Amino acid sequence: MYVKELFVDNFRNLEKQRIEFCEGINIFYGLNAQGKSNLLESIRLLSMGRSFRGSKSTELVRFGENYFYVKAIICQENNDKKIEFGYKKDGNKVIKVNSNKIKSISELLGQLLTVIFSPEDLNIIKEGPSHRRKYLDSCISIIEKNYLYNLMQYNKILMNRNKLLKNIKEGKSKNILEIFDNQLVEYGAKIIMVRQNYLKNLEINIKKFLLEISNEKAEIVYLNSVGLKDASDEETVKKRLKEKLSKNIDLDLKYLTTQVGPHREDFKIIINGYDSRVYSSQGQQRTAALCLKLSEFEILKKATNEKPVLLLDDVMSELDENRKKYVLEKLKGFQTFITHTTKRDLKGDCYFKISNGVVIKE
Ligand code: ATP
Ligand code: MG
Repeated sequence: MYVKELFVDNFRNLEKQRIEFCEGINIFYGLNAQGKSNLLESIRLLSMGRSFRGSKSTELVRFGENYFYVKAIICQENNDKKIEFGYKKDGNKVIKVNSNKIKSISELLGQLLTVIFSPEDLNIIKEGPSHRRKYLDSCISIIEKNYLYNLMQYNKILMNRNKLLKNIKEGKSKNILEIFDNQLVEYGAKIIMVRQNYLKNLEINIKKFLLEISNEKAEIVYLNSVGLKDASDEETVKKRLKEKLSKNIDLDLKYLTTQVGPHREDFKIIINGYDSRVYSSQGQQRTAALCLKLSEFEILKKATNEKPVLLLDDVMSELDENRKKYVLEKLKGFQTFITHTTKRDLKGDCYFKISNGVVIKE
């Protein structure tokens, strides 16, 4: 699939405009703070339903205005598809696919497949477990239809369980805890099974990429909440999770939060035998992040049998010549959006100059 055209209105600093793209490599160049990342953000928004920079909808509205609207025409197997995202500051958000309002984000996911590469990818390696969980969940949500629903159900039950812990501490009966635990285990086990599978797949790919790029050995270790090395049998996972919940009840009551479960999980990326988060150099971490993204792209491609659109925000300047060549070779044949400060040293199929929120095709 590829993005044929984009229309933006009151989105960040971008002027109201319609932009037509080409099917290959689209280069957006311009000085700092002109709107390059904003443009990629608007495309990614239509793909994921949220900002890749973690911004709230209200922050995406152009200063001094009270709404934004973004629309893209996507070409998929010679058919055009229209995706729209509108937001008004009174809190009203509307997302449409081919003019039909969608009821939940899971209906949007998969409509426009994108993989974004940005300097912030480094945070997936460097930051705490919640960053990696968030990343993992968003990757899986696109390719596993029920995953997001299961995750949302899990989080809802978790919230209720935590409320119940408070009530129990205040003297209420423990009786319904078992009901919550059973529900938590049901959804929790499903989440763990899918995460396990995805991470296995991720490991196969990241191993290959890291070996090719820097001749290093990569492994991924899933730190699941059931303490199983291979969590491949759902019944065993359920049993173990239930046991863990029961075992931890005193701690749960002490801290008034549930101490074990998928909401506390993490995964480690091991390079040459050492945890990359703790021991790798900045350069190694950057390469690991790049391989992680290339793996995400590979998995998404295979799982959907589709060609995702690639968004490369400011990554070219950070890569050495070899890595740059390697990445561009891997992404050949896919629609790619690349932001860069200059037009020089990047070969594209079409070029756009961005200055002060105005995008001009050359
Ligand atoms: P760099 O090369 O530094 O990454 P960029 O071209 O990617 O620059 P953007 O991140 O796209 O720059 O931001 C461009 C400008 O948009 C910034 O100056 C920022 O202040 C401005 N901006 C951000 N949010 C809004 C908003 N809601 N309304 C208007 N302008 C905004
Ligand atoms: Mg930028």
